[in-house]
Amino acid sequence: MIKFTYNKHCVKKRLGQNFLINNDVINNIISSISPKSTDVMVEIGPGLGALTDHIYNIVHKLFVIEYDNDLVTKLLIAYSNIKNLEIFFKNVLEFDFFRIGNNYYNSIRVFGNLPYNISVSILLHLFKYNNIVDIHCMFQKEVADRLLACPGTKNYGRLSIISQYYCNITRLFDVYPQSFRPIPKINSTFLRLSPHKKYSCSMKNIKHLIKIVTLAFRNRRKILKNSLSELFNENTLINLKINPMLRAENLSVKQYCYLSNYISSL
Ligand code: SAM
Repeated sequence: MIKFTYNKHCVKKRLGQNFLINNDVINNIISSISPKSTDVMVEIGPGLGALTDHIYNIVHKLFVIEYDNDLVTKLLIAYSNIKNLEIFFKNVLEFDFFRIGNNYYNSIRVFGNLPYNISVSILLHLFKYNNIVDIHCMFQKEVADRLLACPGTKNYGRLSIISQYYCNITRLFDVYPQSFRPIPKINSTFLRLSPHKKYSCSMKNIKHLIKIVTLAFRNRRKILKNSLSELFNENTLINLKINPMLRAENLSVKQYCYLSNYISSL
């Protein structure tokens, strides 16, 4: 176990370092994750081990990915005797979640108190791996609100649609800034993302979904007839049972899938 040695002079702001210090929050996170003895888990950004300490002794195998070399040195010393824990000094955005070390894993669980500055990029990276069975992560509350947003609301947009296409998303609890050191200027939310086993609408080409939602939300006040005119004329939208007078935020994830599969079929 690492004894908490937070030192404000060593914090690397560019790596989004806000370390968890509240034991109630840590316990809530662990019980929400509910690690099992058969689990193979990957932790993103273990930092000083606030979560790591509670997981490695339960699960079959724990991999941790840390990008701060000073922290990696600390982790390697603290966990040198722990056989089922492997530490990677790596940027998570370049980490291959299929092939970890020399092995291929067809079922892994991912968790972490993410560096906020790259949390969306991390999520989009994780969506590429269909061997991930669930993701439990801390996000900036505003990002969590966008991930969870429903059609017709101001937070609903590109991120909501792409994430909800891949996952069922659950808000577990909010976390106050005082639970971290240094204290961030933002509130946080802990989420569970469970990738769909069966998609309500299966996508022929995800790039088409991304292109359509990007166009639709480039100017969210525009009606679809105008915002999507590069890809669909008014009659095509009507034939696809999409009202051309609606705005981007009015379409469901399923309707966006429908539009993108039409483009894929051309
Ligand atoms: N898990 C610890 C905790 O809860 O106290 C630390 C969380 S802190 C918000 C984010 C952690 O992610 C830091 O340890 C930071 O160094 C690490 N990190 C930042 N960017 C990273 C990257 N690209 N790849 C892997 N780890 C990264």
